[in-house]
Amino acid sequence: MSFVFVLDTAQRPLDPIHPGQARRLLAHGQAAVWRRFPFTLILKCALPVAPTIPLRVKLDPGSRTTGIAVVRPLNEATGQVVFAAEVTHRGQQVHDALLARHGVRRSRRQRQTRYRPARFANRRRPAGWLPPSLESRLANVLTWVARLRRLCPVGAISQELVRFDTQLLQDAEIRGVTYQQGELAGYEVREYLLEKWNRHCAYCGVRGVPLQIEHIVPKARGGSNRVSNLTLACAPCNTTKGTQTAEEFGHPDVQRQAKTSLKDAAAVNTTRWALFHRLRATGLPVEVGTGGRTKWNRTQRGLPKTHWLDAACVGASTPSTLRLRGVRPWQITATGHRNRQLCGTNRYGFPIRHRTRYKRFFGFQTGDMVRAVVTRGKKVGVYQGRVLVRASGSFDIRLSAGRLTGINARYCHLLHRTDGYQYHVGDRAAATTTAALPDTAQGAPDSSPA
Ligand SMILES: [Zn+2]
Repeated sequence: MSFVFVLDTAQRPLDPIHPGQARRLLAHGQAAVWRRFPFTLILKCALPVAPTIPLRVKLDPGSRTTGIAVVRPLNEATGQVVFAAEVTHRGQQVHDALLARHGVRRSRRQRQTRYRPARFANRRRPAGWLPPSLESRLANVLTWVARLRRLCPVGAISQELVRFDTQLLQDAEIRGVTYQQGELAGYEVREYLLEKWNRHCAYCGVRGVPLQIEHIVPKARGGSNRVSNLTLACAPCNTTKGTQTAEEFGHPDVQRQAKTSLKDAAAVNTTRWALFHRLRATGLPVEVGTGGRTKWNRTQRGLPKTHWLDAACVGASTPSTLRLRGVRPWQITATGHRNRQLCGTNRYGFPIRHRTRYKRFFGFQTGDMVRAVVTRGKKVGVYQGRVLVRASGSFDIRLSAGRLTGINARYCHLLHRTDGYQYHVGDRAAATTTAALPDTAQGAPDSSPA
């Protein structure tokens, strides 16, 4: 949250400004708060502003959490992170909700009621169809890219497209031998192996210890350096195995698994590719990078592993010095937009409640962010959180400590209308204020396939 978004009088995005400047604009009455989450100002009168610099939105899509960072290029080698966020997806909730619906419908068809033909094998899925749980993840990322484009001048997008680049692993012709044998290639291989062998020792299954890259058919026995001949082992197993093959070592399963594919990784990769195509459809130039490259960028700059820092390190365009001072990443959780159920049932399927005719009471809707200043009664105090509305005017407010019940509507002030997300400001970036690349690592080989 180090920088503040600003819109001009016609709601066009300007360069994000320093919080001090934002305070000055507000104090002089030259700007007003446009929205609080993320914090954005709108100018009240046309002020002379410098020409805007196009920013780069960087994305690290994950299955649970997606990291987002907006980076402003200051010069050739330096970039300022002006906005960072971690969006938590609701893929599992979507999945569970669909399973619940499936159960309700199934039981209805089993009942001896009016005739309802069974439905099976009569659905067709359009090309490019993705399950709703994956679609929801895509929609979250695209929503935030679209929102950021309305709040700041975005000129390009960087996306982590794949965890590892199999082409670069197998085919030296594409980038040249130096790339394949370089340090970056080591990261690609490691990421690939960690994913393939489930992050544990292939022989004894131990987790959470440093794993070594191990040759299934040892090099001494003519085994190659090809990825298909590599696995991960803890130090004791690696030493004990010595010059035996995995089969001789009593692990024919390892020898067999060496040939299996990465189905789970493929599913994640599918989503990422779908995201890539939809990002390209926005018309902005999209740079892609691999997970190996991200990790390499992050480690070289000595940054800890968080989703937003990963996002800031995506792609070959990452500036060698990243300024992170005071950046507080937004923790954004996807909450969905209520449901479409007309009738709620108890666990036996008996209807117990019906949808109300209206969503909004006393100007509030469930999910709105409110600030309640209670001046009388047992609950005197100031509270801020998402509200749950009731027709009676007795609202509940969800606080980090739990739910506060029975707050009257007249004490509440609207801060932010519900928009399908819940907001929370994370901790300030750790002591690292700038993360610079050591000189030796300059001129890293290019990993982004155009
Ligand atoms: Zn082991």
